[in-house]
Amino acid sequence: MPVPVSQMWTVASYVIRQKLAGRKQYPLVLMLEPLFRCNLACAGCGKIQYPAHILKKDLSPEECFRAVDECGAPMVSIPGGEPLMHPEIDKIVEGLVARKKYIYLCTNALLLKEKIHLFKPSKYLTFSVHLDGQREEHDLAVCREGGYDIAVDAVKEALKRGFRVTTNTTLFDGANPKSVRAFFDEMMDLGVEGMMLSPGYSYDKAPDQKHFLGRARTRRMFRAILSNRKKSWQFNLSPLFLEFLMGKRTYPCTPWGMPTYNVFGWQKPCYLLQDGYAESFKELIETTEWQNYGTESGNPACANCMVHSGYEASAVNATFSSLEGFLATVKATLFTKYEDKEALKMLEEPEAPVNPLIQISPSASHDLQETRA
Ligand code: SF4
Repeated sequence: MPVPVSQMWTVASYVIRQKLAGRKQYPLVLMLEPLFRCNLACAGCGKIQYPAHILKKDLSPEECFRAVDECGAPMVSIPGGEPLMHPEIDKIVEGLVARKKYIYLCTNALLLKEKIHLFKPSKYLTFSVHLDGQREEHDLAVCREGGYDIAVDAVKEALKRGFRVTTNTTLFDGANPKSVRAFFDEMMDLGVEGMMLSPGYSYDKAPDQKHFLGRARTRRMFRAILSNRKKSWQFNLSPLFLEFLMGKRTYPCTPWGMPTYNVFGWQKPCYLLQDGYAESFKELIETTEWQNYGTESGNPACANCMVHSGYEASAVNATFSSLEGFLATVKATLFTKYEDKEALKMLEEPEAPVNPLIQISPSASHDLQETRA
């Protein structure tokens, strides 16, 4: 089941309206983080490293609605933390559906079966289930044995109840392209609508600093994964963003394309970095020194970044900025098979040795233990 036409039309007409209005810095997706608490302690995530008094905080539904109305983006992604741990997540979703926002509720799905009765199927609501690969890879990435099986079970339940379901996958150094491709087959067989992908980013606060990919390695890995693509694979991403990951295109970062609002306010400049906060979206746009960010800026924090939250908005903008961009998108969507013999050979390369992942306990995040050597 592809993305509904109504969603494609909403997004396309929104971008065209921004272009016609001559607006250069427009948001595409609001990243709304209503809490930082989580029931996992993934090695690649920095969010649960906040002190206890911050982890206890929740955005109220009213604060969420104010941010959504202020920002005006047609899509809202709700990451966190684990949004299903928010005591009023159902009210937040209901209010956003009433506003006709396309919502991607990003969840590790551990609580999805238990809480699914709180939600009604809607074309505006998609559960975006965090799965970082096949069973072994996912359980290792989220540092939780059995996490894959619970998530897959919840995906089946959500699909059975008529919800839209996608997956979101973050790939770190050492990911096995062959296994990632087999994972795509598994997800398509399950019946998910589409898959979202991103390379990991090196969070200061993340306990595992060895697994994040440099740009050249990122491109090589995605070339191996995404070349010689199966027709059955559906991605919930701009096809030009996928070409960017494969090294076929270069884009500057568009940090304002997916602005972040959380318990601290509007985060400068992007979902990943924290160079201060603004009290309003207008203040975020007007006072952030955007020229200091993106790979070209020379900012070391941006040097290796190719993440979805920085670059997918760039790819979408490229689609609507020129006839060439639009035709490239049509071609990539309908006709390109990405045949690549070199990439096929890469699939047969021996697996790179994997650095140990670090297990952190949610209750004592400073107490670190190795889980795999
Ligand atoms: S390059 Fe990455 S870290 Fe830097 S502003 Fe863009 S999204 Fe943020």
